Amino acid sequence: MMITTVEVLAPETWEEALALKAAQPDAVPIAGGTDLMVELNFDRTRPGAILDLTRVADLRAWDADNGGLRIGAGVTYTRLIDELGDRLPGLAIASRTVGSPQIRNRGTVGGNLGTASPAGDGLPPLYVSDAEIELASTSGTRRVPVTEFITGPKQTSAREDELIAAFHLPAATGPQQFAKIGTRNAMVIAVCSLSLAIWPERRAVCACIGSAGPTPLRATEAEAFGAGALDWDGRTELGEAALARFGELVADAAQPIDDVRGSAEYRRHALGVLARRTLTWAWEEHRCA
Ligand SMILES: Cc1cc2nc3c(=O)[nH]c(=O)nc-3n(C[C@H](O)[C@H](O)[C@H](O)COP(=O)(O)OP(=O)(O)OC[C@H]3O[C@@H](n4cnc5c(N)ncnc54)[C@H](O)[C@@H]3O)c2cc1C
Repeated sequence: MMITTVEVLAPETWEEALALKAAQPDAVPIAGGTDLMVELNFDRTRPGAILDLTRVADLRAWDADNGGLRIGAGVTYTRLIDELGDRLPGLAIASRTVGSPQIRNRGTVGGNLGTASPAGDGLPPLYVSDAEIELASTSGTRRVPVTEFITGPKQTSAREDELIAAFHLPAATGPQQFAKIGTRNAMVIAVCSLSLAIWPERRAVCACIGSAGPTPLRATEAEAFGAGALDWDGRTELGEAALARFGELVADAAQPIDDVRGSAEYRRHALGVLARRTLTWAWEEHRCA
């Protein structure tokens, strides 16, 4: 039997973490470990070195500035719910659906971004907020729109020497929703999901599909239709016909596949239902506020 060793690099500071990543670009970062440990345990990956980021305090910090938020990649789902649920209600609802309390205590949105699974529940809420991902290396820092950061299933545009430092997004200015279909109620990978945000100051509706395409997908035609259908001044109820059309347009924007969790046809149907539900919840909250 061949014994392989894994070097564990344990920086105490962000500068040290970046320097170690520059010196050993193939070192695999670990935050909560809730994805990476599964990969290691199933022998799907065998890195020569692991870069343990859990001691780096900067990654666990978040700041608010002029309505914008910068959230460190290492902030856990539990903290997002507890500390930012009022400012980021959509991301908080999505975070509550992730795994179990144990997973939410360890797992991070930085890790969700690093894995870049189309089923990552933390991702659609970032899309409906036009979030930007902050990437850093010893040669500097850059911000990339989340749509350009995630380039395909489990693929990102991060360079080998870069780490995810944080994500930036505006605090909610209107209601936000997230709904997910799974094969059971908890501890489940999404069959499909939908994130929805209303931005009243610019009369916009944003919707992003999860787990029904190679990446999360914005439903742009549905968004334009929804924004035009809502009675922003009179705040009257949204009619059944408009809701049905919104649902159809969201379903049309999906690019689902048949797999063990569900058929493409079921995913399209479910997305139509989620679209009607989330728009109803969000609009009712806005117009009754
Ligand atoms: C039982 C169970 C249930 C789960 N349920 C859900 C669920 O309901 N919804 C869901 O979306 N996910 C779920 N997951 C998956 C996982 O919890 C999430 O994807 C989580 O967000 C991963 O975060 P982490 O901090 O644990 O990442 P890690 O496992 O530490 O890392 C994940 C990936 O990101 C990279 N990475 C981490 N931090 C950085 C960084 N700062 N810079 C660059 N790369 C980085 C790592 O190298 C690795 O490739 C579940 C996992 C388990 C084991």
